[in-house]
Amino acid sequence: MKVIVLGGGLMGTAAAFFLAKRGLRPTLIERNRVGTGATVASFGNIRRTGRYLPQLPLAHRARALWGEAERLLGRDVEFRATGHIRLIFDEGSLADMRAFAEAARPWGLDLDELAPNEIHARFPGLGPGAIAASFSPEDGSGNPRLIAPAFAAAARALGAEIVEEAGAAQIERTGSGFRVVTAGGAYEADIVLNAAGAWGRQIAAQFGEPVPLESRGPQMGVTEPLPHRVLPVVGVWSRDPAWGGYLRQVERGNIVFGGAAVRTEVALDPGHAKADPARLPGQIRALARLLPALADVAVIRTWSGCEGYVEDDLPIMGASATTPGLFHAFGFCGHGFQLGPGVGDAMAELIATGGCATPLEDFRIDRFASAA
Ligand SMILES: Cc1cc2nc3c(=O)[nH]c(=O)nc-3n(C[C@H](O)[C@H](O)[C@H](O)COP(=O)(O)OP(=O)(O)OC[C@H]3O[C@@H](n4cnc5c(N)ncnc54)[C@H](O)[C@@H]3O)c2cc1C
Repeated sequence: MKVIVLGGGLMGTAAAFFLAKRGLRPTLIERNRVGTGATVASFGNIRRTGRYLPQLPLAHRARALWGEAERLLGRDVEFRATGHIRLIFDEGSLADMRAFAEAARPWGLDLDELAPNEIHARFPGLGPGAIAASFSPEDGSGNPRLIAPAFAAAARALGAEIVEEAGAAQIERTGSGFRVVTAGGAYEADIVLNAAGAWGRQIAAQFGEPVPLESRGPQMGVTEPLPHRVLPVVGVWSRDPAWGGYLRQVERGNIVFGGAAVRTEVALDPGHAKADPARLPGQIRALARLLPALADVAVIRTWSGCEGYVEDDLPIMGASATTPGLFHAFGFCGHGFQLGPGVGDAMAELIATGGCATPLEDFRIDRFASAA
């Protein structure tokens, strides 16, 4: 069985790796270089707190694989289980956190609740005004620059073909499968996996599967280095998205940050997602509540990336509803970095065996058609 994976972001490279591990010889086709789409722009958060509950089995599968990544890929992709803290500043958000924690427990996610004295003793400098926090000790972060190239290299070592700088311009049905035409030549396969991220909507549309997906660019930034003291990834429980910032300190001291509802326009054709410096002050205002030290340091770079946001904030995963042999895994709505290894593994299982131990039903592509 020949498989073509369209798109060399985290989802496509991880799928190629796990397909190859299952003994298949996939061909991955990427229009730029692997990992240069949303994946490289990611904040790098490996977070399960706050997720849609039926997505937790996939998130747990992904988290287990992040823990194995160095062994599986033969290189350190800087996954660090530093813990993930979410600070709370008002009673409404405290109630939301407690409700989520209770509902998530049967789904296998245990969150600790921290009182202000515990926050200040364990994480000095964080959230002086916080009234509580949730803490997920086994979550953390990974390096968005390393992960997709690492999956691609490991897939290649197992026999996968990785074709870069060759966008799929045309995808045709043949008698038994598909013919994918690129500027560098044509490739044939029985199966196509659409892992084209924000661009996945265009590919699905070619097969009569419209998806309400909007492409936007969440804005990130990084500061000059500060003395290293913030270990966990830091977020917030807030009903107001304008206060919904997040940050982490990398080992050399810089603070990487994002959130506060800042999402910019993107241009999918060139693949550009411009950051808007004018929106930085609002982000810093939200983030300084989490880490006041941030108010006094210089921001040295801002950036963004093209991400696909589906109307219901859930990804598209599973078999096509119109075309046998076509599969989709795209539109990860700003939280695909954590899921990536699990998505690749689950899609490889589904393609290779026809079934998947992890429930994917809620992510099926025809969910919008059936709602109409
Ligand atoms: C700025 C930013 C910060 C984020 N932070 C986090 C975070 O902290 N935690 C988290 O969990 N998630 C985060 N996300 C989301 C996460 O990064 C994405 O959901 C994830 O990387 C998506 O991976 P992907 O492989 O689906 O898409 P991409 O990485 O975009 O890969 C898709 C690839 O398909 C290629 N492609 C497109 N069309 C074609 C074609 N016709 N032929 C061939 N190739 C094609 C593109 O060039 C691209 O490389 C963030 C996203 C952004 C943009």
